[in-house]
Amino acid sequence: KIAVTGATGQLGGLVIDALLERGAVPAQLVAIGRSEEKLAPLAGKGLETRVADYNVQPDLVSALEGVDKLLLISSSEVGQRVAQHENIINAAKQVDVSLIAYTSIANAMTGGMELAEEHIATERLLAGSGIGYVLLRNGWYIENYTDQLMGYLNSGVILGAAGEGKISAAARADFAEAAAAVLLSDEEQNGKIYELGSDKPFTLNQLAGAVGAAAGQDVAYKEVDPEQLEKIYADAGVPGPFAHILVDTDVRIREGALEVSTGDLAKLIGRAPASLGKVIKDNLDK
Ligand code: NDP
Repeated sequence: KIAVTGATGQLGGLVIDALLERGAVPAQLVAIGRSEEKLAPLAGKGLETRVADYNVQPDLVSALEGVDKLLLISSSEVGQRVAQHENIINAAKQVDVSLIAYTSIANAMTGGMELAEEHIATERLLAGSGIGYVLLRNGWYIENYTDQLMGYLNSGVILGAAGEGKISAAARADFAEAAAAVLLSDEEQNGKIYELGSDKPFTLNQLAGAVGAAAGQDVAYKEVDPEQLEKIYADAGVPGPFAHILVDTDVRIREGALEVSTGDLAKLIGRAPASLGKVIKDNLDK
């Protein structure tokens, strides 16, 4: 059996769709989430659903019973993730899961991003666990930007502190497909590290150009001092620690922290990842 944590989340749902499209049968898949209600549609598709919170170790053990391969989608509860991932890894060990695929962050070890710290700690836990593991170091989601399209268009401005740093962002669905490809691969995956990103990186300036071109209006990139940007986010209601992490990410992007040039994503999915322009257009058409 193949299990997916965070199956009720955005990436998890796309991974399950991709697994089914790539030939997995529903009965082979175990969807793990903390909300029975959110799992119901997946049960409706014929998947086995199991409820477990990352904070409740015994429930995780039951949820992983009989599982051979596990996709551990990193938790969204920033700050609590290391303890939560440790619970999952320990549970997997108890029930003899043979392979864990973990969604880490691009350039985890070298990018210097604060956001990477919990991923680094998790990669180390995996290395010491004795369980086979494969790292899916996902680059930035294009959706991190397209979720803000209306704000960009209403203001005509994209603010950032990323300078001319290149971002190899890709669509969430492409990262999901890559995860499915790894989980279904006949090749040995234990020990592999995939650095995943689009092969057409863009700067925030180019993002502004692409948004403007797709919408038929002027959108400009405006570089702001990191301290000032953190204050703008805080004033807009972004919680302090999160505002800090967002700005730290921009500053690291300047130094190439989210630039990926391995081609791993295209290789795994067997085609070019969706372009920035297409993802923007799909969002505008929604
Ligand atoms: P989502 O927020 O859509 O999904 C997060 C999933 O984690 C949900 O299924 C959520 O459950 C589950 N979850 C969170 N806390 C717990 C818990 N205590 N117990 C059990 N389940 C829990 O995120 P995405 O799918 O978009 O992204 C997947 C992960 O990728 C994120 O969690 C984050 O670590 C990372 N990420 C990466 C980004 C990038 O650009 N590379 C950007 C943003 C996130 P529920 O549905 O019940 O809330």
